[in-house]
Amino acid sequence: VNGSQGFEYGGKLLWYVCKTLTDIFGPGLIFRTWDAEFVTLCPNTTQQVFTSRCARLRAALHRRYPNELRLGTTWTDGVFSGKTLVDEARSIMHCVQTSTPLEAGTMDAPTEGFRSVGEAVRAGRFTVYYQPKIDMPTGRLVGAEALIRGVSRDGEIIPPSKFIQLLEEDGLIRYLDLMVMEKCLDRIEKWKGKGFGLVPVAVNVSRVTLAHPSTLASILAIQSRHPELPADILDLEITEGSDGMNLEEFKTTIEQYHECGLKLTLDDFGSKYANLLLFAGADFDGVKLDKSLILEVTSNPISRTIVRDIAEICEKYGMGCVAEGIERQEQIDVLLEAGCRCGQGYYYDRPLPEDEFVRKYLEKSTEELKSTEQEENI
Ligand code: C2E
Ligand code: MG
Ligand code: MG
Repeated sequence: VNGSQGFEYGGKLLWYVCKTLTDIFGPGLIFRTWDAEFVTLCPNTTQQVFTSRCARLRAALHRRYPNELRLGTTWTDGVFSGKTLVDEARSIMHCVQTSTPLEAGTMDAPTEGFRSVGEAVRAGRFTVYYQPKIDMPTGRLVGAEALIRGVSRDGEIIPPSKFIQLLEEDGLIRYLDLMVMEKCLDRIEKWKGKGFGLVPVAVNVSRVTLAHPSTLASILAIQSRHPELPADILDLEITEGSDGMNLEEFKTTIEQYHECGLKLTLDDFGSKYANLLLFAGADFDGVKLDKSLILEVTSNPISRTIVRDIAEICEKYGMGCVAEGIERQEQIDVLLEAGCRCGQGYYYDRPLPEDEFVRKYLEKSTEELKSTEQEENI
């Protein structure tokens, strides 16, 4: 605002926000976190009172500064942590579209210069690549993992390592994760319509997204647009992080997702964060062995034993087990011998743009299927 409208305008705007917050919520619990973000907490009240105060605030801000301010609110009963609540409210706030571009914190991201992630998506600044998942003994396609890519102004592809963390810090990742899910369901339905059969797709879900109280409802709303697809056609891959949910929160969340027929896989198992406690304690539908473990599997007997044991547990408890980061035939030999038959990695293919994935995998497997059927008929 200072840049486009000048400091006097910016100063007045801040003063107005502060005064309105104080008038509505009282001066006790109002904080300014950084340049232009205010937080207010409203404890010991009812949800009805809180909601009506928020409505007054929204109306007052909008009246004076239409479309220039973002407001995110959230409510919880009982015991809560201020940090979780503020993070939730912030991520909701960031999904609101205004006429002001996104903050400087996301300047390196493909969202740079856009007013919302949605606008950046619509402008083609993100694209989804697909990496095949292969049944190693037969070489057949069993699914794909959707991996997001940014697109620079010059059309260059930006890897997720350049922007995922920034979007997680801003809470914007939720919007992106939901967009990837929506796009994947759309594609699965399109592929089905073209006669390619049902292709299960794994999508990555940030722990920030998973922890958000409205995510499940948003996923169900997206799914409701594709009533013919089974709920578990998307496999939600979750990576734990140092700042992630605790085990109890994970368990509760997974239970809620399971009740809605959704499938969750623990990603990056064997890496820094995805730990044994989580694997044993939360009811995941599958596990993805991290590439660091697969890298070692041919040379390190302990890594090999870990893979064998995990594959056995998965078999026993009906969980999926996928090895990622396969680059060499020797790794496949060891993995098959250890009882893991599903793999993903550069040995088979890199993540591919959609049209290439369709050409190389879906059209090919349909042709193969047709010729096997013809042979059988003969
Ligand atoms: P991930 O989910 O563990 O995805 C696997 C990563 O390993 C991908 O990196 C993939 O390109 C790479 N990979 C696959 N095969 C091989 C191999 O044989 N060797 C090696 N060295 N690497 C291989 P990518 O696409 O750069 O994605 C990195 C991470 O970014 C993903 O790790 C995932 O955690 C995150 N990510 C990607 N898309 C999304 C998304 O839509 N939402 C969220 N929240 N995170 C995403
Ligand atoms: Mg993954
Ligand atoms: Mg992984």
